[in-house]
Amino acid sequence: METKEYLQMMREMKDFTFATLDEDGRPATRIIDVMLVDDDRLYFLTARGKEFYRQLMDQQFVSMTGMTKNWEMLTLSGRVKRVSQEMLTPVFEANPSMNDVYPGDSRGILEVFCLYEGQGEYFNLSKTPIYRETFFLGNPVEHKKGYEITDICISCGICAGLCPQKCIGEGEPYIIRQENCLHCGLCAENCPTEAIRRR
Ligand code: SF4
Ligand code: SF4
Repeated sequence: METKEYLQMMREMKDFTFATLDEDGRPATRIIDVMLVDDDRLYFLTARGKEFYRQLMDQQFVSMTGMTKNWEMLTLSGRVKRVSQEMLTPVFEANPSMNDVYPGDSRGILEVFCLYEGQGEYFNLSKTPIYRETFFLGNPVEHKKGYEITDICISCGICAGLCPQKCIGEGEPYIIRQENCLHCGLCAENCPTEAIRRR
């Protein structure tokens, strides 16, 4: 799917765990609603008095993850920035229940943020084999994950026999179908020539 389709899916899922770092450098998480999306941006909000707000302003970066009832996970990590408070109007129009939480002028304590550059992943655990796909907002430096097989592979087939998702194909060298890989590392731990390395 394209990025805009994944963003639309995130809007429909709505509730995501958002992670930042606290003042001691430890992970801090909370559930935040995806308030709006367009083709290449995602919008959420928080109040100026919250620690989350201070962490966003300091770090300008967030990681978020959520799951559908069908075991489809979406993650997205990337750069965020505060945008004009004028965005509160379309956000409240798209999410009328916000009027109950912040009625009248109290909405003025809120600030809207947009995630504008980052890397996301769709991960479907309900399929066999599992399926994953990476998508991008803006032009981030790609962060590759998982494993790959190098030229020192001797085509013994041990990894293919052990792989829980049967996603390693024969060849010289053998090859991992990245879209079906769990990133578990079982193949790398058992390769006799250490031909399998992290990407
Ligand atoms: S176990 Fe190592 S050497 Fe054997 S097929 Fe797999 S990658 Fe190649
Ligand atoms: S990391 Fe796990 S799932 Fe991926 S190819 Fe290796 S054994 Fe298979």
